[in-house]
Amino acid sequence: MTNTLLYEGKAKIIYATEEPGVLLAVFKDNATAFNAQKRGTIGNKGQVNATVSAQLFRFLAEQGVRNHFIDQPAPNQLRFRQLRMIPLEVVVRNVVAGSLCTRTGLPRGQVLLAPLVEFFYKNDSLGDPLFNDEHIALLELATPAQLAQIRTSALAVNEWLRAFYAQRGIRLIDFKLEYGWDEAGQLSLGDELSPDNCRLWDIDGDRVLDKDRFRLDMGGVDQSYYEVMQRVLQL
Ligand code: UDP
Repeated sequence: MTNTLLYEGKAKIIYATEEPGVLLAVFKDNATAFNAQKRGTIGNKGQVNATVSAQLFRFLAEQGVRNHFIDQPAPNQLRFRQLRMIPLEVVVRNVVAGSLCTRTGLPRGQVLLAPLVEFFYKNDSLGDPLFNDEHIALLELATPAQLAQIRTSALAVNEWLRAFYAQRGIRLIDFKLEYGWDEAGQLSLGDELSPDNCRLWDIDGDRVLDKDRFRLDMGGVDQSYYEVMQRVLQL
């Protein structure tokens, strides 16, 4: 089988496969943070991120959340249906952390009264700026109706994932989603759902289990990623 390299990103290599419309993602152990100013490796990260994503995409599909996942042909590989991606990072937050602290001055750990949805324009040279509905309309990234659909979906995903993680003793603090349009013109969840793009705190004592351990040099990074995978798989 011959695959054609389409794109090599910081955490994944994407190939076109011989099957039209089917992509292969190979997840790397490389880790970057702060716009790639910080670089390193997290042991087994490729396997953990592929496995956690596969489990969550399967779970969300069972709940009726359309997504691009097909299967996991190898521990660090996933096959996806190709989407026409919307260049937005959709962040949903349940608890104050990260850039929400620095932007608002709210204390880290404050529980939000209702989930907050934020949109960031995916554009490296602009530094992924925060966008509101009007910026999104201005750049014609989505129509108001499409944006409403994205917001509704992201909030539903939040409820499902929150429950999923709570059953495993983990608090879902915040996470980032990316959406696209599939062959049928339907909104579909894309990208990955892993400890690289979620904040996950242990229910007991708020121990950090996600990429912040790498970002903030907290140590025990490999072990935390592995622990998330084991808990997601209920091992
Ligand atoms: N996030 C991400 N990719 C990004 C920026 C953020 O996956 O390029 C995730 C991040 O892991 C966190 C959530 O989105 O779970 C909110 O991140 P935040 O805006 O607080 O930015 P950060 O502090 O991570 O730079």
